[in-house]
Amino acid sequence: MKIRYFDHAATTPVSENVLKAMLPYFTYEYGNASSLYTIGRQSKKAIDEARRKVATAIGAKHNEIYFTSCGSESDNLAIKGVAYANQSKGKHIITSKIEHHAVLNACKTLERQGFEVTYLDVDEKGFVSIEQLVKSIKPTTILISIMFANNEIGTLQPIELIGNIAKQKGILFHTDSVQAVGNVRINVNQLHIDLLSMSAHKFYGPKGIGALYVREGVEFEKIQDGGHQERDKRAGTENVAEIVGLGEAIEEIYQNYDTYNEKLIELRDYYISEIQKRIPNVKLNGDVKKRLPGNANLSFPYINAQELLLDLDEKGICASAGSACSSGEASPSHVLTAIGLIPEFAEGTLRVTFGKDNTREDVEYLIETIQTIYDDKILK
Ligand SMILES: *Cc1c(COP(=O)(O)O)cnc(C)c1O
Repeated sequence: MKIRYFDHAATTPVSENVLKAMLPYFTYEYGNASSLYTIGRQSKKAIDEARRKVATAIGAKHNEIYFTSCGSESDNLAIKGVAYANQSKGKHIITSKIEHHAVLNACKTLERQGFEVTYLDVDEKGFVSIEQLVKSIKPTTILISIMFANNEIGTLQPIELIGNIAKQKGILFHTDSVQAVGNVRINVNQLHIDLLSMSAHKFYGPKGIGALYVREGVEFEKIQDGGHQERDKRAGTENVAEIVGLGEAIEEIYQNYDTYNEKLIELRDYYISEIQKRIPNVKLNGDVKKRLPGNANLSFPYINAQELLLDLDEKGICASAGSACSSGEASPSHVLTAIGLIPEFAEGTLRVTFGKDNTREDVEYLIETIQTIYDDKILK
């Protein structure tokens, strides 16, 4: 059966050019980038090249990019790294209730170690309140960590405004941009971002490679001990092939930015409007405009999204639910809870995330399939 993939927020397939660029570094270009002989130097050169591509994509300098093993590691290194290095100035951190677990659980760990964390509320569309943010700032606040784009409901936060506030107050600003990189144009200077996390597998690069941007001069401690790789901030022999893949993927996605963006928005808006036309009382979660181009998060009343996912899977469709199924009970995610979605809606929440290779025909099939399943369940 043909697979129709609508779960690009979970992961994306590796693009062909990215794979091609990576392959030599699995085979004959196997040198350790720290070695002085020719194949070692070639690996180092490939890493330098990838670092430049990542830096260019977000308006940073190449010496502000650190490669990590994933988005989760980047978040941990940013938050714990800044906390440990700056604790003499204060031990208070501000984040939000709808962050990815890599951020939330890093903050929980810091709380157990004596740090104080404020988790900002969000409104019904998933926006943090700037007023609450400003009120939460204390003399001891050392870090604000607010995600660029939410992975479930797609909401884009007012990053420039938050960056500005942080800058004026002399507080460091980290943003988990794992969903935003590739989908939003980002300039770390214009947006006043001090630290930014990304992950290649969310934009057609390989899994298991991420990067952290850290503004020059910002102090952070390494969280992994070992050798002196990544300017002594991240120990471990460099994963050359994956680093090359990350560099290629970020360059490719921004080269095609306008084309992909236009396409994703068109597919997304078509899907949302058709579903709302055909099925009564379907609720769009997140904001209509300030959302990721490929994200459609809809709540279907009287539908169990877990069951819907299995039915869709039988038809070759991959999507995601907004609730985690544990012991047969669907409990709404922390994001859906934070936006105040009532359980009846939360249970029926389906996240569809479009990608560059989806076609209009794929989306027609998705809409028809959802309608058929809905009619079978509700109207039988
Ligand atoms: C996927 C994701 C992560 C984690 O990235 P990994 O590379 O899978 O560890 C972190 N934050 C957000 C918002 C994500 O979507």
